[in-house]
Amino acid sequence: MRKIEIIIPSFAFLCTVACNSQPPSVSRPTVNAAARTQAANLSAALPPSTTGGFDGAQAFEHVRKLVEIGPRPPGSDGIHRAQAYIISQLKSFGCPVEEHDFHGSTPLGDIAMKNMIAKIPGAGSGIVLYTTHYDTIRLPNFVGADDGGSGTGTMLELARIFCTRKTKAALSAWIVFFDGEEAQEDWPDKNSVQWNNTNSTFGSREMAASMALSGDLKHVKAMILADMIGPSDLKIKRDTGSTPWLTDLIWATAAHLGYGNVFVNETTTVGGDDHFSFIRRGVPGCDIIDFDVQTTYWHTPDDTLEKVDPRSLAIVGHVFIETLPALEKKFR
Ligand SMILES: [Zn+2]
Repeated sequence: MRKIEIIIPSFAFLCTVACNSQPPSVSRPTVNAAARTQAANLSAALPPSTTGGFDGAQAFEHVRKLVEIGPRPPGSDGIHRAQAYIISQLKSFGCPVEEHDFHGSTPLGDIAMKNMIAKIPGAGSGIVLYTTHYDTIRLPNFVGADDGGSGTGTMLELARIFCTRKTKAALSAWIVFFDGEEAQEDWPDKNSVQWNNTNSTFGSREMAASMALSGDLKHVKAMILADMIGPSDLKIKRDTGSTPWLTDLIWATAAHLGYGNVFVNETTTVGGDDHFSFIRRGVPGCDIIDFDVQTTYWHTPDDTLEKVDPRSLAIVGHVFIETLPALEKKFR
């Protein structure tokens, strides 16, 4: 995704990608039995019976399917296939699915984009947004296993859990897949990429604006974002731009579940991400992200399937499941 850490302001953009209105041709990564075995082996260490039902192997399988599609920049054939995949999976879980089509006004011209939302109704009027972005940067051969894939796979598995529940929670849970999180630019080199508040986070800005218009925004108790949560040595630091009480609540939930070594107390500063589209409008938001990968494979063609560990997806998924009752307790 995008963002900048604690770096120097002048660097501020180092975000993303490049483009062309044509999706790059790519050789599809071979996904193989080894990956499936990896998923099975790794998730065996954290079975769904210990993670509130969340199956890290299934979340990983979604990532594998997305990676198999290849690059998924906004408006491309690849992202259209990703949309079809996400929608078909959500429907197979029995989720009510909404598709919100809009146009992002980008440096490359208007690009057709689509947010997808699974709305699981609660007993009351309060809403919790569980969100991720599913687009990838415009870099040839970039398959976005961690950046784009890991959050999407996790939200699909979370949707399976929530949509198949027999009893209604007090709060509605909306699981949201944002298009156009990445900056839309040509990618001659990283330094030319123009990440700024108007060339990024198209999907989340669109959704926050439309929820403000419809009146739904005032019912949102929390907006939780998952972005780049795949690494096997996952360390989620507290984002200094996220809402402190919400961060505290999620970290306390994680600690209670025994994941204090993953949700650590160090801080990080994310330069920009989808949660800010809601925080700017007064909605509490929290970014769950391991941005230490910015010094390694981030925004390079090396962001491939083996960078994602099913166990890490299961830990985050488990925390997300348990965050809902924690929020309900707070807002009771
Ligand atoms: Zn990115």
